[in-house]
Amino acid sequence: MTRMLIVGPPGAGKGTQAGRITSAYGIPDISTGDIFRENIKNQTPLGVQVKAIVDAGDYVPDTLTNELVKNRLEQQDAQAGFLLDGYPRTLDQVRYLDELLESKGQKLEAVIQLVADQDEIVSRLTKRAKEQGRADDSEDAIRHRQQVYLRETSPLIDVYRDRGLLVEVDGLGDMDEVAGRIKAALSERGINPVGARHAVSDESVA
Ligand code: ADP
Repeated sequence: MTRMLIVGPPGAGKGTQAGRITSAYGIPDISTGDIFRENIKNQTPLGVQVKAIVDAGDYVPDTLTNELVKNRLEQQDAQAGFLLDGYPRTLDQVRYLDELLESKGQKLEAVIQLVADQDEIVSRLTKRAKEQGRADDSEDAIRHRQQVYLRETSPLIDVYRDRGLLVEVDGLGDMDEVAGRIKAALSERGINPVGARHAVSDESVA
């Protein structure tokens, strides 16, 4: 039963690492950005409502985002744990999630923070824009999203640090390296991949 969050500036590789954690720890990766993009692509009422906001790199209003996460966490696959990727992003979302989990008698176990340098991020995002053709990856939008992140989301880090939940991981280097660091940091907190408990204790014996 692992309930975790992953946070980090846009372009720090959150999505990639979240995908890996999902498969290793047997929990669903719930990415609010992916859910919004999927809705925009399919032109659902929600998608139509949020398209301009997401394309501009601004945050979708908390009421919409909170409701979406509440519904997603009610689904069957999220009962055995989850990794929330890109949520919460504002202090109001933190409060909402606190209340939501409390009402279910659930607790977060860890908040993974990917730390990455700004220049590295901009070059990664420019590359991703070319590969994936994301409408929110123009250079202006990238810069704008970094500013929004610093203003709205970096204060959350302190909240989770104060709660003793923060697991800081250096996000620079190749994907495997970063994944290895996350795994090691989680294992220090007693959070281990599915089916890896024996392997880990064997290593510590050797
Ligand atoms: P990135 O990894 O580049 O930050 P995401 O895929 O996480 O991008 O999110 C893309 C966009 O979706 C955000 O810029 C924002 O418009 C919207 N979004 C995603 N999560 C949230 C959230 N928790 N609150 C508000 N808006 C969000």
